[in-house]
Amino acid sequence: MTSKQRAKPRHNCGHIVVLSAPSGTGKTTLVKKLKQILPDIVVSVSYTTRKPRQKEKNRIDYFFVDEKEFREKIKKNFFAEWAFVYGNFYGTPKNFIEENLKKNKIVLLTIDTNGALQIKEKYPDTLLIGILPPSLKEQRERLKKRGETDENIRHRLKESSRERKILLEKYHYRFINRDIEKTAKKISSIIKKVCGI
Ligand code: 5GP
Repeated sequence: MTSKQRAKPRHNCGHIVVLSAPSGTGKTTLVKKLKQILPDIVVSVSYTTRKPRQKEKNRIDYFFVDEKEFREKIKKNFFAEWAFVYGNFYGTPKNFIEENLKKNKIVLLTIDTNGALQIKEKYPDTLLIGILPPSLKEQRERLKKRGETDENIRHRLKESSRERKILLEKYHYRFINRDIEKTAKKISSIIKKVCGI
């Protein structure tokens, strides 16, 4: 049985779309393109304990918080899902999802596979889309360009082979991101089809 046959779509008309892409797959650019093609989708901004990278802005790229605040938010049930990824906490605010679902919006989450499976459990109609890098070499180069340390790169590449397995087994659709424009077009047409827009 091929991986494509294994991951059959079982959603109806999910208004949550999860995009998971191992680190260095071009996810940030992809989300920007998707937003251009589908301006009505809303993109959730996650909370993280990771330090901001150059050019990253608080409340736009992430809500950057310390571990104490993150743990308090976990206790208060603030997150729809949270996970410990590459040595830092990341979480999706539940109120953002709930408010936008009420408005019948399509909510896009770009989160890791652990978080994605938690979301799918809570919101079974969630559409899961995975992005894979064209090659290990290209993925490594992207991470290097972004200024990650060698240790971080090793860690992220190791983790991404675990994530890749989950993408193949549990996600509805997967794409190899060879060309950002083409990948964004393919993803947007799936979202349009599945969500009936
Ligand atoms: P980065 O630090 O490179 O921005 O993200 C590292 C990983 O954390 C990526 O796989 C990204 O998708 C994931 N991530 C970002 N936000 C969240 C979130 O809110 N929840 C989960 N579970 N993962 C997230």
